[in-house]
Amino acid sequence: MGRVYNFSAGPAVLPEEVLQEAADEMLDYQGSGMSVMEMSHRSKVYDAIIKEAEADLRELMNIPDNYKVLFLQGGASQQFAMIPMNLMKNKKADYIVTGQWAKKAAKEAELYGEVNVVASSADKTFSYIPDCSDLPIDDDADYVYICENNTIYGTKFHTLPNTKGKTLVADISSCFLSEPVDVTKYGMLYGGVQKNVGPAGVVIAIIREDLITDDVLPGTPTMLRYKIHADADSLYNTPPCYGIYICGKVFKWLKKMGGLEEMQRRNVEKAKILYDYLDSSKLFHGTVEPSSRSLMNVPFVTGDKELDAKFVKEAEAAGFVNLKGHRTVGGMRASIYNAMPKEGVEALVAFMKKFEEENL
Ligand code: PMP
Repeated sequence: MGRVYNFSAGPAVLPEEVLQEAADEMLDYQGSGMSVMEMSHRSKVYDAIIKEAEADLRELMNIPDNYKVLFLQGGASQQFAMIPMNLMKNKKADYIVTGQWAKKAAKEAELYGEVNVVASSADKTFSYIPDCSDLPIDDDADYVYICENNTIYGTKFHTLPNTKGKTLVADISSCFLSEPVDVTKYGMLYGGVQKNVGPAGVVIAIIREDLITDDVLPGTPTMLRYKIHADADSLYNTPPCYGIYICGKVFKWLKKMGGLEEMQRRNVEKAKILYDYLDSSKLFHGTVEPSSRSLMNVPFVTGDKELDAKFVKEAEAAGFVNLKGHRTVGGMRASIYNAMPKEGVEALVAFMKKFEEENL
């Protein structure tokens, strides 16, 4: 059976080379006589896998030595609680709400302290990123929180907010490794890997060391303390071993492809093909303000629900799958992560053009 073009928002397409390699190593990982799923996380073989994964990620993202890389579990959603539990020393934080995920993070943080929503784009169904150059940041805020790429709405912060000296915490789940980042601008970046990096079950958090302390909110469970995981090099308990192994393979693939500058070049090129068509189409329209557009998630509509459904159905039959928009937005969404080849986007646009001719 052939592989389809998979536009899923996550879990999402992974590089075919990585999947093939994992398949080749399934029964016997490098002469160990077992798969990576079957080996002890305390074994020498596995230790090399997790250490190499971390080293490759550090190289790719140019992560300074004073930042820890943690491989965690619980999905990105668990961070919505871990962040306030570990970072809310003054029990105050400022949140910028640009979509469902930031909204959920803010709501969770309210369980632990005072949350101020200092900017929001809810007024226009999250179709843009608000101006964050001069926000009413609280003097006592422990951090300023953003969701950098909004998977559902297809927006991305192209300029980071002016946090007025406060620690920036960013959810980068859906833009992880899609372009170079200056890690030093953040106190913490984190993401679920199931979009651009690997299989669901792994969360990677990159946190500046001075933020990792024992001074956490009373009652914070052991497993939800960054310090516990940092001190144990992500091996406090059994980590999501197999997922980390696949992430490691994706890091190697990214290095081989030319690193994050090259990924950015490719992602800009791919997204342009789709956005240029959307801007010229008489049938399909992008839903996002052009200056806020994401390179990763591209929502679009025809303006007619029945026609949207017809498109999704016909696209699927033609081998373009998971194009249905998020249930809260409707329409369509094409997620075009690192592993989606340019040919996939070109083929989708060709299919959309044909659909337009037939349905206008
Ligand atoms: N943040 C963003 C930006 C997301 O896209 C998602 C999931 N789609 C989440 C958080 C929640 O992730 P998880 O399902 O891993 O908890």
